[in-house]
Amino acid sequence: MKYQISIFLSILIFLTACQTNEVTSSNNLAYAVAWKKTAAEYRALYYQGFNIARQRVDEFMNSPINGVGKPLAIISDLDDTLILSDPYWSYLIKHDLEFFDDSVWDEWVASDQATPSPGALEFLNFCEENNISVFYVTNRNQGDNTREYLVNTLNRLDFPSVDDDHLFVLQESSNKELIQNQIKDDYEVIVMLGDNLNDFSREYYVSDIGERYSLVENNSEKYGSDFILFPNPTDGHWIRAIFGESEPAPTIDNKMLMREAASSSAWRD
Ligand SMILES: [Mg+2]
Repeated sequence: MKYQISIFLSILIFLTACQTNEVTSSNNLAYAVAWKKTAAEYRALYYQGFNIARQRVDEFMNSPINGVGKPLAIISDLDDTLILSDPYWSYLIKHDLEFFDDSVWDEWVASDQATPSPGALEFLNFCEENNISVFYVTNRNQGDNTREYLVNTLNRLDFPSVDDDHLFVLQESSNKELIQNQIKDDYEVIVMLGDNLNDFSREYYVSDIGERYSLVENNSEKYGSDFILFPNPTDGHWIRAIFGESEPAPTIDNKMLMREAASSSAWRD
């Protein structure tokens, strides 16, 4: 009997080791980055988002409220909404990193190589030409140089309205609602654009996956009207819902957690 138990335990340890090896040797970020880098569908989703946003702007410009009430505006996030950093993610894969890496990110930001997302510049210029105010609200933190780095990039990309009245950079908090509400006090905000639900409302700042699902269901009519959402399979608060933090440490435990999150609804063993 003792002999059988010890064989059983040996097999169990062997299987666990195999699974750990499998997790250790795979890069959990590779699929998401490959999609960002190569999928034409990824780019099409940006055009789709900006086309819808433009239709909304058109509707408001041609509605009777235009010119009567508050001036019209849009509010947008920046990273993964109006600008893309795909080479940063490719660098992580090339160097066998598979979780967001703050120090690499800061170097990437300083290098000023971000590109506009497909259709972003055209949409922003359309707003500008039609006297629709454009507000940028973003979270970034590269210390004292945060704003300077961002302004350099946005100016290089020829984005309109890159000034103190329109560009809001939150360094210490991810809560955008305060500044968004101040803008809404003075402007009729047609649409909000983002890649993260928290870009639209602080109510989404919850870390339970089921709760996030429910909130989206409750607000389902707002997507494609008030909120325009862009795709981001590499980072954001969906990561926080899995790990409890948006930038989890690169540990084997966290890799196992990612595997668990992905495999939890497998239809059979
Ligand atoms: Mg973003």
